[in-house]
Amino acid sequence: MFQKILIANRGEIALRIQRACREMGIRTVAVHSTADAAAMHVRLADESVCIGPPAARDSYLNVPSILSAATITGADAIHPGYGFLSENASFAEMVEAHGLTFIGPSPAHIRMMGDKIAAKAAMGALGVPLVPGSAGAIADIDEARRIASDIGYPVLIKAAAGGGGRGMKVAAGPDELEEAWQLARTEARAAFGNDAVYMEKYLDRPRHIELQILADNFGQVVHFGERDCSLQRRHQKLLEEAGSPALTPGQRDALGSTVTAALSQLGYRNAGTLEFLYQDGHFAFIEMNTRLQVEHPVTEMVCGVDLVREQIRIAAGRRLSYEQSEIAFTGHAIECRITAENPETFMPTPGRVTAFHAPGGLGVRVDSALYAGYVVPPYYDSMVAKLIVHAPTRAEAIARLRRSLAEFAVVGIETTVPLHQRIVEHPDFIAGQYTIHWLERFVSQQG
Ligand code: ADP
Repeated sequence: MFQKILIANRGEIALRIQRACREMGIRTVAVHSTADAAAMHVRLADESVCIGPPAARDSYLNVPSILSAATITGADAIHPGYGFLSENASFAEMVEAHGLTFIGPSPAHIRMMGDKIAAKAAMGALGVPLVPGSAGAIADIDEARRIASDIGYPVLIKAAAGGGGRGMKVAAGPDELEEAWQLARTEARAAFGNDAVYMEKYLDRPRHIELQILADNFGQVVHFGERDCSLQRRHQKLLEEAGSPALTPGQRDALGSTVTAALSQLGYRNAGTLEFLYQDGHFAFIEMNTRLQVEHPVTEMVCGVDLVREQIRIAAGRRLSYEQSEIAFTGHAIECRITAENPETFMPTPGRVTAFHAPGGLGVRVDSALYAGYVVPPYYDSMVAKLIVHAPTRAEAIARLRRSLAEFAVVGIETTVPLHQRIVEHPDFIAGQYTIHWLERFVSQQG
């Protein structure tokens, strides 16, 4: 087993990984920008190294600095968390070239899934159902017109290198196609330095349902069921549930078998999530994330698994701790992503937290790096806490979520706690009846 792991991240996820390491008796190295010198992930680590100035490109994305920090501290492995370098295949290669272990999939699989066109082609060939669309990149507007009229409007133009909902444009009909195509390419070029785009049928009322998998180096792949992440704003998830209010255990098992068989054939290793759109009883694959996800705790709660511990064990060459038949789904879990933003305008609200009280009690988990006196810096993602509740039934989980949100106290800055409080009171949410478009409408009606 590793003696020391460098955690190439910040905030709640750096703490989350540190906690798993501590329980496994592994020492931790935190890295931080000058803006994060007083951050909780630095305070609680065994060692810490400053890797650069505040801007992420100079610190948390600064590969030479991070590799030097690992070498100087004698770390054996690097955990990338999510975001930052977690899906950067070249980084994973460089980590390995330095004789360190990258806690994640092989660079080849990261690269394959980072190109959504390649990812869809690979998954389609392995029998995973896809959203109807172009077979590959679209060369020109004439080809775009042909494919759109084949699959039928509305269509969605998406960036091959896409992420975070960027480089995605809808065309409701033929008149809008050229503009959508141009805009998607421009946005993709600016955001990813790659203007390759492809086309999908734009589904009008799907749910976003994703499946968590783990694979070891011995060809064993298991799944830990689904998460429903349909509550999104600007294609960004706000609240996630395990399991989905829309699926039966039979549907989960069937999807799980298809996916684990495909990944086993692919020779995939470590953690991964396959994202699907689900509408009218059909699943359609949209992309695979080759890392730990923000919303992984809801799966941990219903399965009683520590996904980070499993990632570390797999990277150290151990076999999976679970057979599929040993994975049971108990109760229901819901996560709220709480951000330092105004709950109506979504303007970021960085600044000093003067007082902080996290809810607790049975079935409540708060993953956060907040503390009283902490100054939320303006440079990074605005998520400051994840509130996760677990209860025997969905109705009880909602009741627990309500009382936990009411206990949540962050003083000094505004957060989105009030928005979550409104969502969990809504009859559609209570009934579990929502699609990926629901939250956008709800938010626009609030103002
Ligand atoms: P990103 O990597 O940028 O997050 P995804 O492909 O995962 O992009 O899509 C993000 C979100 O966009 C999905 O969760 C869904 O809400 C929406 N979306 C993606 N593809 C489609 C589609 N074909 N039809 C309707 N909505 C879609």
